[in-house]
Amino acid sequence: MSDSPLSLSQASCADDYDPNSMPVPQARALINQFLTPIQALERIHTRNALGRILAENVTSPLNVPAYDNSAMDGYAVRFTDLPTQGESTLSVIGSSFAGTPFSGSIKKGEAVRIMTGALVPDGADTIVMQEHVKVQGTAITLGSQHRLHQNLRRAGEDLYQGQVALQKGMLLRPAEIGLIASLGIGEVTVFRKLRVAFFSTGDELVSIGQSPQVGQIFDSNRYTIHSMLTRLGFEVLDMGVVRDDPVLIEEAFHQAAANADAVITSGGVSVGEADFVKEMLNKLGEVVFWKIAMKPGRPLAYGKIGNAHFFGLPGNPVSVMVTFYQFVRDALLTLSGQNPVLPLPTFKVPCITALKKAPGRTEFQRGILHTDEKGQWQVRVTGEQGSGILRSMCEANCFIILATDQGNVTPGSMVDVQLMQGLL
Ligand code: AMP
Ligand code: MG
Repeated sequence: MSDSPLSLSQASCADDYDPNSMPVPQARALINQFLTPIQALERIHTRNALGRILAENVTSPLNVPAYDNSAMDGYAVRFTDLPTQGESTLSVIGSSFAGTPFSGSIKKGEAVRIMTGALVPDGADTIVMQEHVKVQGTAITLGSQHRLHQNLRRAGEDLYQGQVALQKGMLLRPAEIGLIASLGIGEVTVFRKLRVAFFSTGDELVSIGQSPQVGQIFDSNRYTIHSMLTRLGFEVLDMGVVRDDPVLIEEAFHQAAANADAVITSGGVSVGEADFVKEMLNKLGEVVFWKIAMKPGRPLAYGKIGNAHFFGLPGNPVSVMVTFYQFVRDALLTLSGQNPVLPLPTFKVPCITALKKAPGRTEFQRGILHTDEKGQWQVRVTGEQGSGILRSMCEANCFIILATDQGNVTPGSMVDVQLMQGLL
């Protein structure tokens, strides 16, 4: 595949493109080629910036720390006054507290009592911990084996004035908010929130508050999608349930694409219904349908309707969550300006249960990571893995990812797990 951007129709003609069995990494890479982050910016208070994406570098207007200060409670001394062997005695001429510095300077044979975070007085270059000092009135006796600059935090050692403290594209978490505050910066420039519209399709769906008749079910996907989007910090536009009626669905697509950066639907992309949705979407925009070589979540549609990115997820509740986290999450984060978009932590642990797996597609089974009696991490499967069993997601704290070529897993073999912590 070339690095230059493709149009969707070119993408669907590429040599290694098999719409009936698209490998997971290839589908991700294809989607990635069409993503351009939003440009609109907002200037907001630092306190309100949690979960937002920085739209410009934050440069440090000062040195951090601003001045040389002590990392310990002890005594500020001149290194040349310390003995190379035996002991020396120095006279204590004052004290430096955090917020109340010593204003004079230290001369030969002198020391200043100093507390953690306090300014290191002029003339001093080394801090001796109070535990290494004998005090007699205003004199202290100290031994050998000290290092020049020990226990001293140098001005600018964390950040120097003019240094880029945080890069454009970073997600602002509590640590970043604290760092920005430590620089005295009260406002930041962030990307505006990504707007995501979503609706459920299906004649069988009723909403909470209605009474399902025989053959009807409550719409749960809209609640899952709403929650997943909200957790990621997007602005959400809930468009409700749309009946399996071409006219109504077309209308909903128009409205969603006109009001949002991205549109997500669930249902109506499986075999049988696909053709009718496909036809209509091709009329409205540029959309590719794939059968992804994965379980659960085989059918997936991606494309553009006007300027909006469209993700057509399958209908089964577990498939919705798996395809959202494996494809849509990263795409939406990229669109919202986040850079880099970090993958979810994935690592290997022994699996204590036997897993059934046929080679040919990637499986995302739901697992429970836990420790054994020796404190070693291991994983077990949640039980029945049907794509309609949403309880398996509630019980899980990780996906067990089984690669395409992998067959059955015997108890004790190593498997890849991907943490859901923070996702669910
Ligand atoms: P579909 O892809 O529309 O054929 O849906 C596949 C399965 O998912 C069917 O059993 C649907 O009833 C179910 N389903 C579709 N949409 C929803 C929804 N919003 N909430 C719960 N289940 C759904
Ligand atoms: Mg349906």
